[in-house]
Amino acid sequence: MRNDDSPPPPEAAAPAGPDHRSWFTRRSTLAVAVAALAPTALAGWVLTQVLTGAGPDGRDAKPVAAPSAAPATPATPATPAPSPATPSVKPSAAPSAAPAAAPAKGPLTGRTVVIDPGHNTGNFKHTDEIGQQVDIGTGRKECDTTGTTTNSGYMEAEFTLDVSLRLRTALEAQGAKVVLTHVADRSWGPCINERARIGNEAGADAVVSVHADGVSAGNRGFHIILPAKVKGGAADTAAIVEPSRQLGERIAGNFARTTGSAPANYLGGGTGLVVRDDLGGLNLSTRPKVFIECGNMRDAKDAAQLTSPEWRQKAAQGIADGIVGFLGG
Ligand code: ZN
Repeated sequence: MRNDDSPPPPEAAAPAGPDHRSWFTRRSTLAVAVAALAPTALAGWVLTQVLTGAGPDGRDAKPVAAPSAAPATPATPATPAPSPATPSVKPSAAPSAAPAAAPAKGPLTGRTVVIDPGHNTGNFKHTDEIGQQVDIGTGRKECDTTGTTTNSGYMEAEFTLDVSLRLRTALEAQGAKVVLTHVADRSWGPCINERARIGNEAGADAVVSVHADGVSAGNRGFHIILPAKVKGGAADTAAIVEPSRQLGERIAGNFARTTGSAPANYLGGGTGLVVRDDLGGLNLSTRPKVFIECGNMRDAKDAAQLTSPEWRQKAAQGIADGIVGFLGG
């Protein structure tokens, strides 16, 4: 549902400039320096290898300029015996640096995407906890909400997690580092402010919160919710309004293409884009972020799509394609 998200006291505002390209600045990390002593059987060659790694987790570490192996002078054979052909001594090949668990390489290599599966299937059993008020900068709001369901009982929280996991797989295949705000590994929540904080602390290049709406039958289609320009308390979206719109437009176009769904017929004027200033998850974000309402769970035709694994795969692919487009892939 769309009026569920509210954020908590966000972190210090990111020093992002108005130019969204600044979001894409890549962090590089000098990883490891490894010295390997590899005496050979015949001579005491010493090989030194230095490794450097790029990327937040060093997963794409690769060998760099193996310094010239300064071969120690081999001891002079005591007896220059007239032996037949002394084999020339040469350094053995430097051992290749084995990259750890190499992720897929692709257009999103070096980028971080945070996916926020809306709600939590356990929220229904923790109404007191999720009902606590949290600070969203511009006001206070419930920590989290239960989300909606289809008329047959398929929970929005089941839907959002399923699409999010499919989306993670699709993004990782493009080389992205993906962080989910939760994977149903907790009994309720997280609160909306924590959801925002996770994206901020991850330094996400893009954040997408996945939802499905719960309005009356006959209302159909998807829409993307973009952050309004708000300022209050810990909320200051000035730096993310424009990049978030670009992210949202990319997702909307690709989502329509892969799913065949139309933009919502009940809001957004047929654009599939809506701007809101009351969602904590957006107000507290310092990273480009949008929500997507994939369809209306209370409409039978939309629900038939939302409950289809094949359709959910198309939905995840459309979101992934939009993120790739936004990040310049
Ligand atoms: Zn929702």
